[in-house]
Amino acid sequence: MLSLVIPIYNEEKLVDELVKRTISSIESFITDYEVIFVDDGSSDQSLKKILACQKNNGHIKILSLSKNFGHQAAYTAGLEYSKGDLVAMMDGDLQDPPELLAEMYRKICEEEYDVVSGKRIGRKSKNSRDLYAVLFHLLFKHIGEIKNMENSGNYSMMKREAIDALLSMKEKVRYLPGLRTFIGFRQGYVEFVRDDRYKGKPKMSIRKLFVLAADAIFSFSRFPVRFCLILGSIGALVFMCAGIYVLIAKAYGFAVIGWSSTLLSIYFLGSIQLVFMGILGEYVYRNYKESQNRPLYFVKKFYDGGPEK
Ligand code: UDP
Ligand code: MG
Repeated sequence: MLSLVIPIYNEEKLVDELVKRTISSIESFITDYEVIFVDDGSSDQSLKKILACQKNNGHIKILSLSKNFGHQAAYTAGLEYSKGDLVAMMDGDLQDPPELLAEMYRKICEEEYDVVSGKRIGRKSKNSRDLYAVLFHLLFKHIGEIKNMENSGNYSMMKREAIDALLSMKEKVRYLPGLRTFIGFRQGYVEFVRDDRYKGKPKMSIRKLFVLAADAIFSFSRFPVRFCLILGSIGALVFMCAGIYVLIAKAYGFAVIGWSSTLLSIYFLGSIQLVFMGILGEYVYRNYKESQNRPLYFVKKFYDGGPEK
């Protein structure tokens, strides 16, 4: 059995097309499946529309969350409710073409991969968001501690063992593409050109994308603290030399009395310290989040497609 998890947040305009394309793609290679739509607190007609689709197709299940928890939490919720021996994750805006699921399925069944992810080899749209994603992957490739994750997002299919491993990691700050790469197993890729969003505006605002990138970097890289340490050490060295120079100058009486150099070094050191405190603050905050141990999401209702009780 295959479970496909799709997070939905205010996507009323494309639900019908999404369901149509997804179902016809899945039914081309498997009959035993479930599609779990996770309604991440939509305030439009998305839930109603999916419920209407469910009436025509008993394979459709809907997990309605109590509010908007963000798409990484929505994916996690869907994965935790999935029952399949194979589980796939796909964005709900048709940027991840559903037709690729067949190729992922084939790779898992015939080439014995445990995890197959979609690797973007290009993008149809050329806007600032895409440039942002490209830059993120470039940076992450160099500073991230996990390798071979570049250019893959959430779109993927996994065997049950891999999903269980993924879900056994209970951290609250979640970056699923990173966690998926972290678990190991035999990982393969299917290459694709990322489509434009079918309809509607992106639901991940630039701010949300930025937070996601920060989550990825702070979860999977030592770079931020190491950067503080290196720059701090270089600063200390430079200022030690400067200190020696000042002492010598004083002793030999050629010290100039100047406020600009003093002021500049105070500004410089002050701002560097503030930046570093901010970075350390990020770690403290993340630690705090983990120790609060709040659930990642709350479920309002699970429509499992059975008769209403
Ligand atoms: N999404 C969600 N909750 C959110 C934001 C987005 O469930 O808070 C869903 C959205 O409906 C879509 C998927 O996550 O199905 C990806 O969102 P989007 O297309 O905005 O992200 P991007 O393409 O920029 O990664
Ligand atoms: Mg999208």
